[in-house]
Order: sequence, then structure tokens, then C-alpha cells
Amino acid sequence: MYKIDKILIGTHNMGKFREISDLLPPEIVKISPNSLKIESPDETGKTFSDNSLLKAKFFCEKSKLVTLSDDSGLEIECLNNQPGIYSARWAEQFGGFDNAMNEILKKVRETNKGTKARFISSLTIYWKNKKFITEVGKIEGNISEKRGLNGFGYDPIFIPDGYSQTFAEMDYKKKLLIDHRYIAYKKLEKKIKTYIQ
Ligand code: IMP
Repeated sequence: MYKIDKILIGTHNMGKFREISDLLPPEIVKISPNSLKIESPDETGKTFSDNSLLKAKFFCEKSKLVTLSDDSGLEIECLNNQPGIYSARWAEQFGGFDNAMNEILKKVRETNKGTKARFISSLTIYWKNKKFITEVGKIEGNISEKRGLNGFGYDPIFIPDGYSQTFAEMDYKKKLLIDHRYIAYKKLEKKIKTYIQ
């Protein structure tokens, strides 16, 4: 194993790409699958970790670069933890995040069983020699009416516990340093310290 000076961030989601890039040390060169014209694999896994591993392995094999991939999403308790691993697919089905958030708010209101929710991120780092490490981060909170213009995806409808702002009302740096990806990254960082310092 060698020191990492270049890494593929295995996602086409620009919100995630930016957050993961900003968590990694600035000296490491970050490459996007777009720049190598690599498309995303089908997400056939049953869990966030199945999918983050599947993506990291796929992008590493295609690019021959050590790869860090995330699979993440929003679990809403009163909706039987949906959309979960289908968070991106709900946005596609409903014609974008704005519509998907409206649909979620409607379902949560109709169900009338509370607003508890969590964001989950599974991060997998995968090397050419097939070694990999996966870590999961979770942040608990509640579904809120849509508020705020920052961030991406479902940020406007999630308020993390202990805060009054939605993720989309927080400034970028504040969200970056508390969210589910940050929590997963901090666990991973401990295990890969020697490769990234
Ligand atoms: P996937 O991991 O590519 O399957 O997509 C995860 C989905 O959850 C995407 O639709 C994201 O926009 C959404 N998501 C994941 N993390 C966040 C976040 O930090 N804020 C808002 N939406 C998120």
C-alpha cells in the first residue's frame, strides 16, 4: 500500500462530490468519473453499504485509481424508512427533488405519525488490490416544511437534532462538518490516516 496522492471520487452527484472533496486533505488530487467519461453502475444492492461498495469497486476497476464512493439517503420513520436507498430514484420518479420533497411532505402529513428521520451515508474506499474499507455515518433529525436555498437534494426538508435550521438554511461549512458523510468520513479517516497524511 502506498500514500494516496490522487483519488477518484466515485459519484456523479455534484453536491456529494464537493462535500467529499472538501473532507479529504487538500493536497490529494480529486478526480471525477465525468472527467474520465465513466458512467455510474446500476445500484443493485439492498443496503447503503452494498451500494457504496459496488460503486467504489466499479469506479476503481474502470479508472485504476483508488476510489472513494458514497451511497446515502434519507430514511423517514413514518414512511417505513423510505425513501432510504431509493432516495435518488424517488427524485427521478417524481420529476426532480422539488416534486419529491412535496410528495414526501404530503405523505408525512397524511400518515400523521411524527416527523422523525435520519440521513445515512456509507463511504467505501477501494484499492486496485481489491482491499476496501466501508464506514457508515448517521444523523438523526426531523422532516420540516421546505426551507433554505443552500445545499442539494433533500437538504431543505431536514432539520438535524439540536438545530433549528434545515440543512439548506445552514451555510455550506456548517453542514459539511456535522452531516452523515462527515460522520462516516471521520470513522474512515482513522483507518486510512497513514495513506493520506
Ligand atoms: P445515491 O447515493 O447516489 O443513491 O443518492 C443519494 C440520494 O440521497 C441523492 O438523491 C441525494 O441527493 C440524497 N442525499 C444524500 N445525501 C444528501 C445530503 O447530504 N443532503 C441532501 N440530500 C442527500
